[in-house]
Amino acid sequence: MNEKASPRPIAEIASYHAHIYYAGQTERQHAEWLRLRIGERFRVRLGNWRDEKVGPHEQAMYQVSFANEIFGALVPWLMLNHGGLSILIHPNTQNPKRDHLVDPVWIGRPLGVHGEVLPDEHEAEEALEPNTEPTLPA
Ligand code: ZN
Repeated sequence: MNEKASPRPIAEIASYHAHIYYAGQTERQHAEWLRLRIGERFRVRLGNWRDEKVGPHEQAMYQVSFANEIFGALVPWLMLNHGGLSILIHPNTQNPKRDHLVDPVWIGRPLGVHGEVLPDEHEAEEALEPNTEPTLPA
């Protein structure tokens, strides 16, 4: 990186996604277990089950959309509870391609991501309206 370049400000990040991947019956069962417990503990938007590959994703998965202030609790909780599943955590900025390919963090084993299908310029996605009602502490 150019020494004189300014660092990218954190304000570029409008929200985050976690993509929780699974393959086969055992992993899907853990993905179900995880989904239920995320919903009990965090204000997030749980996306639909995607049993078929979709967009840049190489395996079946579901998406969790969450606001920046949730990151500090949800991501460490997923580190402890992923149960071997691969989870892609990426920021949502104005560059979806870079968000997925260059700047994400992985929990568990990293998988391929077909970033070539993503635009490198797009309006940054705000966190989607939460559809969970958490009642338990993380
Ligand atoms: Zn995403």
